[in-house]
Amino acid sequence: MKSRLLIHLALIACCALAFAWLPPNADVSVLFVGTGHPDIYPDKPRMQSGIVVDVGGDRWLLDAGAGVVARMFDHKRPPGTINHIFLSHLHYDHCLDLDAVLLLWRTGGPAPKPGQPPAPRPLTLFGPDGAEKMIVDLFETAYGVDGRGRALLKIPSFKRSKIRDAGVYEGKGYKVSFREVKHAWMDCWAIKMETRKGVLVFSGDLGGPNNLKAEDNADFSEWAKGADMLIIDTLHIPPEELAKIAAKVKPKTMVFSHLTERQLPVFKHYDLSKTTALCSKEAGKVVVAEDGMELKL
Ligand SMILES: [Zn+2]
Repeated sequence: MKSRLLIHLALIACCALAFAWLPPNADVSVLFVGTGHPDIYPDKPRMQSGIVVDVGGDRWLLDAGAGVVARMFDHKRPPGTINHIFLSHLHYDHCLDLDAVLLLWRTGGPAPKPGQPPAPRPLTLFGPDGAEKMIVDLFETAYGVDGRGRALLKIPSFKRSKIRDAGVYEGKGYKVSFREVKHAWMDCWAIKMETRKGVLVFSGDLGGPNNLKAEDNADFSEWAKGADMLIIDTLHIPPEELAKIAAKVKPKTMVFSHLTERQLPVFKHYDLSKTTALCSKEAGKVVVAEDGMELKL
């Protein structure tokens, strides 16, 4: 009888160990659900900014621009399965689908038991200054007529954290930190995920009318140094300046995102071929992101 109990205990311990060990050691996958910029062109539609990262058994959504939610369903990562949202800043091309993501998170968890409300996974949103006000305004006022918006704000497992105060987030086998970057006049943030498979950095948006040079974001480059994968905003900074960032960070893989299919007067410096050529000399390899592209860290 005693030995049976011991076998049972040993089995339970093994299961617990496997559970504790497997998720952090599993692959870190990076799925691009939006690689475009504010305008979405019918001839080659790229959705606005959005990346889904699976790490340590958690699912993160980095930015939630328009079109991202449909791509999440296309690629079997529906909003009900995410645990964390990071909003780099509040330009609309980074948060236009936030309302859809949140409302579909609320209803999109595992199938509910009969007579019980759906139970989505806990969700924490890391947002810049102003995000809490935006969310309250959205769900108290804009969607206030439909009571489900208000109810969303009261779900105990839906937590909001100001990035500025968030410090370091410790996941199972990985940690996440944030760095303020200069992007026009916005409160804008980059995110770093340090995992057992390597370090992933997503720049958020860099640059803007008054800070087009790599030196304007020198702190960011220093902080991102040695990243295994650097996902960088390719829209706002000229190719030569992006190459300076690449030279400082020396990423194993540099991924260009926030791309446009048309030359716009406001981004007259934009030149993807030149960016690719110059950064290739500094990074281990360069990748031009596409909607639906999935990379492993
Ligand atoms: Zn942007």
